[in-house]
Amino acid sequence: MKIAVIKETAPLEKRVAATPDTIKKYIELGFEVGIEKDAGINSYYSDESYEKSGAKIYPDVKNLISKSNIILKVNNIHANGEGGDNINNYKNNNKIIGFLKPLQNLDQIKSLAKNNIDAFSVELIPRISRAQSMDALSSQSNLAGYKSVINAVDEFSKAIPMMMTAAGTIAPAKILILGAGVAGLQAIATAKRLGAIVSAFDVRTAVKEQVESLGAKFVEVNMDKKEQSKNETEGGYAKEMSEEYKLRQKTLLEDYIKNQDIIITTALIPGKKAPELISTKMVESMKTGSIIMDLASEAGGNCSLTKANETIVKNGVKIMGPTDLPSQIPQDASNLYAKNLLNFIKLMVKDKKLNIDWEDEIIKNSCVSFQGKVINI
Ligand code: NAD
Repeated sequence: MKIAVIKETAPLEKRVAATPDTIKKYIELGFEVGIEKDAGINSYYSDESYEKSGAKIYPDVKNLISKSNIILKVNNIHANGEGGDNINNYKNNNKIIGFLKPLQNLDQIKSLAKNNIDAFSVELIPRISRAQSMDALSSQSNLAGYKSVINAVDEFSKAIPMMMTAAGTIAPAKILILGAGVAGLQAIATAKRLGAIVSAFDVRTAVKEQVESLGAKFVEVNMDKKEQSKNETEGGYAKEMSEEYKLRQKTLLEDYIKNQDIIITTALIPGKKAPELISTKMVESMKTGSIIMDLASEAGGNCSLTKANETIVKNGVKIMGPTDLPSQIPQDASNLYAKNLLNFIKLMVKDKKLNIDWEDEIIKNSCVSFQGKVINI
């Protein structure tokens, strides 16, 4: 059993799919591990630290891939990629695991299938209790929620906590979080720790208790019992709300947003375009110097003005749409992601041999290319 860890070449990507700690565990499971030279350098994991853990360093990535069964990645590979990100360097029966973004990258998944490369997309690992330790979406969103607040505060021209000084009092900043899922809850916790007055809004009323337990105010749109029972799927995800609800939500937010200093938006329904929660008119009503940090930028954004990986300034309000927040904390992001992958791979090994149970719902649901066919998309 051979595992390869490849250096990521996607723009802005600094993470790596394995750490020296997880390498030791793979070796205990019975794997030989090869690492592409400098694969961990942007996450501050040196080749020497991997070697000390028992991995072999490969300067020639093609040679490494040809010797390996399982390839650990952060991002997908594609036809025009360099080195380990180029599909032509892969062979029949390699297995790839990573954030393959199957909905956005259907053509890439089709070429993986055409080349007989089995592929697992970690975004599709079901959010069930048994898979919690493999939930890479959550581990990375959690860090993104934290970093979104840190970056927004860094751009903000005022202090966050209340300060009473001999020269006068500084009022605490008001931070609003739209969407209180994994990233949103961590954003609330981070903003509270910095001393802001924090409030949050979500269509799922079930999160009200969690928001309040973090010390934030839950901003509520009036809903009758029937609407409340319809706002969440069995899996705990938000559902698309009625047009009438959206209108009530818009009226409430129009009024609320005017007084906020920083807004972090994370609202998303999986597989759908991000809902627009902040219109241009709402941005224009905000105070100059305010910040909107839109985490849903890759899915179109929660603000009408958001552009992925750009900062737009409108009437002195900065709208930022970074898509690489976990990668901006590469050491911790790689550490958590590497553990998620290790726990996933453990499912595939028995008595130091690859033994994949294709009926296991975690394996079955996350597989997007299997024996030459695109599945689950
Ligand atoms: P999540 O599913 O846990 O949370 C999304 C939340 O949005 C849910 O609580 C849902 O109820 C809520 N929501 C849906 N529609 C809404 C609406 N109309 N109004 C208010 N709330 C609504 O997802 P997550 O893991 O927390 O990720 C949140 C977002 O952050 C996603 O868009 C994800 O892609 C993004 N993300 C961005 C980065 C980055 O670097 N920019 C990194 C990680 C995650």
